[in-house]
Amino acid sequence: MSDALICSAKGCTAEATHQLLWNNPKIHTPDRRKTWLACDDHEESLRSFLSARGFWKETVPV
Ligand SMILES: [Zn+2]
Repeated sequence: MSDALICSAKGCTAEATHQLLWNNPKIHTPDRRKTWLACDDHEESLRSFLSARGFWKETVPV
C-alpha cells in the first residue's frame, strides 16, 4: 500500500500502529505536538528515548 504509514525507527519498514506525541519545551510552545510513527516493535524504544529527555506526552493508535 503506497499510503501505509511507516514506522519512524531507523531502518524499519514496518507499518506503524502507534503515534508518539511529543514536545521539546526548549523549542516548541507547550501546546505543540510533534509526531513519530512506530510499529509494535519500536513503540517502546522510541517512547523510552523521548521519555528520557522529558519529551514524551502520549502514545495513541494510528
Ligand atoms: Zn518499527
